Amino acid sequence: MNAKIFNVRGQLYAEVEQRSYVRKDGTQASLIVLRSHCSDCGAPFLVTSPWDPEGGILANYLNRRCALHKASGKPVKTHCLWGKPVDLAALTAPLGQGE
Ligand SMILES: [Zn+2]
Repeated sequence: MNAKIFNVRGQLYAEVEQRSYVRKDGTQASLIVLRSHCSDCGAPFLVTSPWDPEGGILANYLNRRCALHKASGKPVKTHCLWGKPVDLAALTAPLGQGE
């Protein structure tokens, strides 16, 4: 499987899954589930974003940290994995138990 990888301000996000749902107004919409490495500790975490199959990621902001290090609005000055090889296999693995 060739997962899509997105580079958002230097942080890599891999597509794990796409989901469609029905909005309150009855129209169809899509979500994308992405996995990235926390900028603070490097642990993989999941984030969902509105998704346009033609336009790509619609969110202006994606979480950059795991639930433990969540710090909305706090900019990432440096990512703990910058300068190190990124484990793409871990990012693109299928959804695991409890994720
Ligand atoms: Zn973390």
